[in-house]
Amino acid sequence: MQLKTKLDSVGGKQVKRPKEEWVRVENTHEPIITYPQYIRAVSSLKQQKAAERKNFKNIYYCGCCGRALFNANYGTIFCKQRSFKTDSDCRDIEIYEHDADMAVLASVKKEAELFLDRDKLSRQVVKRKSPLSVSDRINSTIKSIEPAQKSWIALYDKYADGKLEREFFLNEKKQYNADMEQLEQELAALRQTQEEQEGSQRKADQALAFLDEEELTEDMKEKLIEKVIVYPGKRIEIVWKFEGH
Ligand SMILES: [Zn+2]
Repeated sequence: MQLKTKLDSVGGKQVKRPKEEWVRVENTHEPIITYPQYIRAVSSLKQQKAAERKNFKNIYYCGCCGRALFNANYGTIFCKQRSFKTDSDCRDIEIYEHDADMAVLASVKKEAELFLDRDKLSRQVVKRKSPLSVSDRINSTIKSIEPAQKSWIALYDKYADGKLEREFFLNEKKQYNADMEQLEQELAALRQTQEEQEGSQRKADQALAFLDEEELTEDMKEKLIEKVIVYPGKRIEIVWKFEGH
């Protein structure tokens, strides 16, 4: 055993380390793990992978009976109904999962490209309508509030010193309140626009990332796909989670 003691940071004297901090260094040529440990580790990794596999979301459904398709180990997905009802069309529902995934991925990429095209177009429209960015407009609105507040305070001081008629002051106050309310409303609208723009920026970033993927990811299934219906002849129909379809 080593490191049973450590320097006490205050007094500089050596103190006993707690047992859990001891570091075992004797017999350093011992294999890091034994063979049974290795076997256990490998099989637990296999179990973990199987569990992960179970966590994969099924997106495929039978176009004949509507049930979730069964994923066979040999890579095919099919409708289990075919074993129960041999006369049903369900027996024609069978597709290689990888082929189906690739077809869905291709559609995801197509949708992502469409989204990016539309997004680019709407950005151009926004820019044409108002060349200043939203954050610039927010800043200039905030800046216009400050001088208004300052001159209001100056006016109030004059009134407090008895240099202004009460009626004149009350009129000014009314105007000032109305101006302030309008500025607040403008700010709120601008902040909402900013949030919307940030939201569509996030979506655009996501769409761009999807274009780089080489397989259908759980993230895509989660975010984009309600389900995929498989019809006879390996025809698939994607039900998207987003609107526009
Ligand atoms: Zn079926």
